[in-house]
Amino acid sequence: MELLQEQLSIYQALLRATKSLAQGNLPDEILRVACDALAASSERVCLAWMYLGNPDSETIRPSYAVGSAFEYTRDLVIDLSPDAMKGPGRRSLITNKPVLVQTGTDSTFAVWRENAVRYGLREGLTLPIGDPKHSVRGLIVIFVDTPNYFEQIGLEPFIAFAQLATAALDQARLKVSLEIMASTDPLTQLLNRRAFQAVMDRVYAYAKRTGKPFSLILLDLDRFKMLNDNYGHDIGDKILSGISVVTKQILRTNDWLCRWGGEEFLAILTDTDEKGALKIAERIRKAIENFSILFGTQKIKTSVSIGIASYPRDGDTPGFLIRAADAALYEAKKAGRNRVVIARNKRKIYSIAAKLNIAIETHKLVPAYQVIVDLRTRKPVAEKSLARLIDESGNVIAASDFILAAMELQLTHLIDYHIIKQSIVHCAANMASGVNNLAYFVNISADLLLHQDLIHELFSEAKTACTSCEMDIGFLTPLVLEITERQLFGDAYAVKAKLAPFIDLGMRLAIDDFGSGYSSFQYLADLPISFLKIEGNLISRVKDKRIRKIVKRISDIAKDLELTSIAGFVEDADTADILCELGIDWAQGYYFGHPVLVQN
Ligand code: GH3
Ligand code: MG
Ligand code: MG
Repeated sequence: MELLQEQLSIYQALLRATKSLAQGNLPDEILRVACDALAASSERVCLAWMYLGNPDSETIRPSYAVGSAFEYTRDLVIDLSPDAMKGPGRRSLITNKPVLVQTGTDSTFAVWRENAVRYGLREGLTLPIGDPKHSVRGLIVIFVDTPNYFEQIGLEPFIAFAQLATAALDQARLKVSLEIMASTDPLTQLLNRRAFQAVMDRVYAYAKRTGKPFSLILLDLDRFKMLNDNYGHDIGDKILSGISVVTKQILRTNDWLCRWGGEEFLAILTDTDEKGALKIAERIRKAIENFSILFGTQKIKTSVSIGIASYPRDGDTPGFLIRAADAALYEAKKAGRNRVVIARNKRKIYSIAAKLNIAIETHKLVPAYQVIVDLRTRKPVAEKSLARLIDESGNVIAASDFILAAMELQLTHLIDYHIIKQSIVHCAANMASGVNNLAYFVNISADLLLHQDLIHELFSEAKTACTSCEMDIGFLTPLVLEITERQLFGDAYAVKAKLAPFIDLGMRLAIDDFGSGYSSFQYLADLPISFLKIEGNLISRVKDKRIRKIVKRISDIAKDLELTSIAGFVEDADTADILCELGIDWAQGYYFGHPVLVQN
């Protein structure tokens, strides 16, 4: 062996490897890089193996080995037997010093000698890596095929390299602990929001790939600000960490919990649909309800509101799911707190909206007309347009089955627009065929008033119909716009301004659902109302004496203001008679006629 040449090439090889050491990100990775570098430093090195763990561990086994003799490590176990304790590996870990061993002669190597000789290992050097104060330490053991090799080369390059590896290991540990700190909430030790996002992305990708469900449960402590204000922030903090422990105990090993915000926690339940999530959420809710901490002799208790959203039922992306869970949580708060609410299934809403869009495009969103009669003569005096959707199979769907979905997705303006437009045509057609004594009631929503373009279109349709109408109907047109008290129209003056062109054209206004809200008198005072339609719920209970008195008062107000009063929901003769007695002018309801589809 050319000694100088060998020394030089070892120095060069180890020097080259220092760069990769510095680039290692994880402790385990650093040690592996060091092993590889040592094994590659000379042809004489036939094995390098590593261990990373507790130096007092009952069994030490190589976790990585390289070199032509790596099979030597296959069954290698360094236990706590007296012989093994004397061996170079344990000694090196205990003393934190390198240990050199002649495999053929040293008595401390007796346990492993036979095997070592079989694999051609002549001399070994153990190198402890890492800060001796640390409970997890590293060990690298290298073997050469030549006795007294290290004596000739000198231990310096190996020891220097081990010191560099130690520095890199400390660096990597620092990085890991910084990363943990950056992803952990210091109060509860749970993942923080930022770290959770990454977990969520992983769970989501897995669910998408496998088609398995998962659920989010969003928890928000109830009236927590009050607890803080009453008992102080420190007690608040204690409650927060106590609750994180209680919650974690209920979750399973594959679930995740994070501190989502101040007093909000978010859990991901893997492989769990909404039913499974509901059970777990209920258990958490009860556990938090039973949780308390002592403040002097006083037991402080709290409760939690929970919203659940599940993939794929409630959303297709993490963002949608969180929003769905948040909306469910909001419902839980609104419903009185200390309860669990599952996200409402928006899919149904979307499918109704899709049907609605198809119906609009294919002209299958049509009005059905329900007759309104004069209660004294029982003769038809008007018609009310009600929206009907005819689906692709020809089923007629009533407005009550799609109006909520339409409201949620803010599509009511489209419904009103299409129904009013067709009602104008229907009205004009009736007039042309000689039916000229009816009024035509149509709904106009607050949503439609926000769409001035549609309002203008309707106005010009109405104007064209009116000017081409051969009937001389004087100043008033047959169309009546119904605004419902149930919707918030806002300022009566603003509504008046928006409706002004229609009013100028001679259309009249009706207030629907009168008696269902608070603002009706304001509208009566400030809008040119001609008709007052009484809230259906009152009419259906008009046989009740108290209700009858209320309806009588409304009827009197209508008379005093010279408005025509109209009762909806009239389903039998008795009700019709009572309403007539109370002085109500007109009535609408199944007793007089169901809504009818008309082909124009
Ligand atoms: P609600 O039932 O509507 O959720 O009422 P709330 O009082 O819990 O809701 P709000 O969002 O008004 O108040 C949340 C409170 O949580 C405000 C803040 O004082 C408290 N909080 C947020 N983070 C911490 C924290 O780290 N420690 C403590 N002690 N309190 C916190
Ligand atoms: Mg909150
Ligand atoms: Mg809260």
